[in-house]
Amino acid sequence: MAEELNPFKIAQQQLDEAAEIMQLDKTAHAILREPMETLIVNIPVKMRDGSVKVFQGFRVHYNNARGPMKGGIRFHPQESIDTVKALSAWMTWKTALANIPYGGAKGGVICDTKALNDEELENLSRGYVRAIHDFIGPDIDIPAPDVYTTPQIMAWMMDEYSKLKGRNEFGVITGKPLETWGSEGRGDATAMGGMYVLREAAKYKGIDLKKARIAIQGFGNAGTFAFSIAQKMFGSKVVAISDSKGGIYSEDGLDFEAVQKAKQSTGTVQGYDKAQKITNEQLLELDADILIPAALENQVTGSNADKVKAKILLELANGPVTMEADKILAETGVFDLPDFLVNSGGVIVSYFEWVQNIGGYYWSADEVYAKLDKIITKSFNDVIATQKAYEQKGTKINPRMGAYIIAVDRVAKAMKARGWY
Ligand code: NAD
Repeated sequence: MAEELNPFKIAQQQLDEAAEIMQLDKTAHAILREPMETLIVNIPVKMRDGSVKVFQGFRVHYNNARGPMKGGIRFHPQESIDTVKALSAWMTWKTALANIPYGGAKGGVICDTKALNDEELENLSRGYVRAIHDFIGPDIDIPAPDVYTTPQIMAWMMDEYSKLKGRNEFGVITGKPLETWGSEGRGDATAMGGMYVLREAAKYKGIDLKKARIAIQGFGNAGTFAFSIAQKMFGSKVVAISDSKGGIYSEDGLDFEAVQKAKQSTGTVQGYDKAQKITNEQLLELDADILIPAALENQVTGSNADKVKAKILLELANGPVTMEADKILAETGVFDLPDFLVNSGGVIVSYFEWVQNIGGYYWSADEVYAKLDKIITKSFNDVIATQKAYEQKGTKINPRMGAYIIAVDRVAKAMKARGWY
């Protein structure tokens, strides 16, 4: 049978596996297998040649038992309702594992941002908000950036929502620029959180990060900051990096500034000519200590998981490892840390941004990082403690299942207390 690559089916299978291990109540399980609400919208957008093009967009509300729903917006040519549903489920588990007072949601628009000019991108961003404005709000559902959306896009969206409501609503969206009351530390929060998890994981596994060789797939928000922070924080060597056009490898380690310059001038990291060109597939199989997928889902699958040589696989992207790969990695002894633990720094600092917007009182970057470190380090320790507790009961589980058990239990308990089942 062909391997399951539909992200929402994968998210459901992961939940089913956790439900069985933790003996989750059947009604709670049935509620948690599907999103609460799904909105599909058509967005007419005025284009530069005077024509009007219609784009399809989505917003999915997965669960709000623990608070307003939270989740990013993707602008991607291959966006689909099933990807958005999966990402909204993972957001629900992410906010629950971090124990912040939110549920989970996600949004997306099918579009190629590289083919749009700034005016078209602004028209599309504002059009998306006009189409979904009744579905979102600071105490209903708070969006944020994700793949191919930026702080500038968040500012346009906040502005459009504020115009519709007739008042400033800074707390409707996070990941905004500082000028429109974004938070210090939000830009690199996802990568920073991932690096705190890596620090704990390396300590736990007795790996010296100063001597570690790191391979990173993706050179966007998550991947770029992971590259620079890993070098600065640990003195690690980043030996490989990639983007959608391919990757580069250097045995001696890559120079961050030089790679960034090459990306800016040529549009791809492959424009850096002092390293060997590799494919995205080769990057995953390199002889590195730490592998960080930081691009898209379904990268480590049943067909390449046995070739992963890294000791730690740090899932900075959402859904980069399939169910089949998950089993293989457990057998080959790769310490695979799940997405909704590793990349939760983004939503944790988004939560801080929302708290600051509502309170109208703003924190320094140092305060933000210290608070982030405390929450995400606790999440890592909770996952390991759950893994050990199940092992003592005779059930071997991987960190992903440890994280699922904690998160699903918290959401199920909130639903129970509210009388949903
Ligand atoms: P981004 O748009 O800033 O960057 C995406 C990167 O992926 C780009 O470098 C692009 O070239 C690369 N890419 C696209 N297709 C690729 C392919 N087929 N192979 C290799 N690289 C490819 O996006 P981002 O915000 O960095 O998000 C990356 C991942 O991190 C996603 O899975 C996202 O859901 C997850 N994530 C992001 C945040 C956040 O705060 N930005 C938070 C949590 C999770």
